[in-house]
Amino acid sequence: MMKNISLLGATGSIGVNVLEIVRKFPERFTVCAMAAGNNVELLARQALEFEPEILSVADEQKARELQSLLPAKFKDKITFGAKGNLLVAAFSEAEITVTAIVGSAGLLPTLAAIDAGKNIGLANKETLVMAGKIVMDRVKENGVRLLPIDSEHSAIFQALEAGRKKDVEKIILTASGGPFLGKSSEELQMVTRDQALNHPNWSMGKKISIDSATLMNKGLEVIEAKWLFDVGADTIDVVVHPQSIVHSLVEYHDGSVLAQMGVPDMRIPIAYALSYPERMVLELPSLKLSQCGSLEFIEPDYTTFPALQLAFDALETGGVAPAVLNAANEVAVEAFLGQRISFSEIIRTVARTMDIVHDGSEDNLEHILQADAIARIEAGKFIDAIAKV
Ligand code: NAD
Ligand code: MG
Repeated sequence: MMKNISLLGATGSIGVNVLEIVRKFPERFTVCAMAAGNNVELLARQALEFEPEILSVADEQKARELQSLLPAKFKDKITFGAKGNLLVAAFSEAEITVTAIVGSAGLLPTLAAIDAGKNIGLANKETLVMAGKIVMDRVKENGVRLLPIDSEHSAIFQALEAGRKKDVEKIILTASGGPFLGKSSEELQMVTRDQALNHPNWSMGKKISIDSATLMNKGLEVIEAKWLFDVGADTIDVVVHPQSIVHSLVEYHDGSVLAQMGVPDMRIPIAYALSYPERMVLELPSLKLSQCGSLEFIEPDYTTFPALQLAFDALETGGVAPAVLNAANEVAVEAFLGQRISFSEIIRTVARTMDIVHDGSEDNLEHILQADAIARIEAGKFIDAIAKV
């Protein structure tokens, strides 16, 4: 049966991989709606190929540029901005909305899609970090399915199919360790933007690449896992596994540990979310374990990479703390990418902002959005005070 997809973040690393799957299985999937930010050239090419019914871009100016690149028949199909994202997310013909926007901009469109009864393919982890309780409650209320695209969560989701939830002892997230695995705090002071962007195993968008280098990505994923799988933080462990072959594991009470493995290729979890519970023939290179060399598993270094501990702290504090962590991190990563602050100052900014902003309830969307806004201001002030430029 044909499945209609609404795709948020079409021009990004995940978005492009989603479209590759659609291109490979034209008899199974169509794309009825697409949203992106500023890359109108790529979006125009994608629109010509996939012919969605509605398109959204960052702002009115970009919408005009997009129109100029497309035939007249697209004229009434182009929208923009936050409102455009909501229209795309909840577009009537969509059966599944894939949320592959980066950052907090993903939250409201994801909620709109859930409220419109769409199943969700969730790449945008920031959504669950900011408002996991609200999102999961709405998922239940609306009887929709939230399918993880993040490779670790897809792995856990699959390993959970082998047992009963109440028999789960531990959920174990693997972390590659990023490009700076094994470096000391002193060495981290010296690392550059280009080194931080250069992930050893995955090619991804800039923000998540920096998050992988600080280990904040794993911190965000711990919070994501808590909500997605409805477990306490004490049930979640992290182990560093530099080869990125074991994508995560579930340990059951009897001592059985189920791992999901595969070549590191996002098309595998993306395709699984799109076709669940079926599995499609992807024709990717198969995993040759005998050619992988040895697989290592190492305890994370919580002192050198404090981001992971901050994420556990945010979970323990609860309320708006995870949203504050996320907002401060977004601002700090942006400042690091703009070469205003050093690598180590990213997490200093987050820690400092978490100390200042904490009021609000995790059940209240207004509180969360407000905490997000205040955290951005506070993180910005701190950065202005320490920045080189
Ligand atoms: P990316 O930077 O490559 O792409 C982001 C996409 O979102 C682009 O299409 C961009 O135009 C669009 N976008 C940004 N702001 C927007 C806005 N306000 N409105 C509409 N569109 C907007 O990022 P990515 O690596 O594809 O990651 C996307 C999300 O998926 C992130 O939340 C990331 O954490 C998550 N994720 C990514 C990977 C990966 O392998 N890349 C793996 C797991 C999870
Ligand atoms: Mg991941």
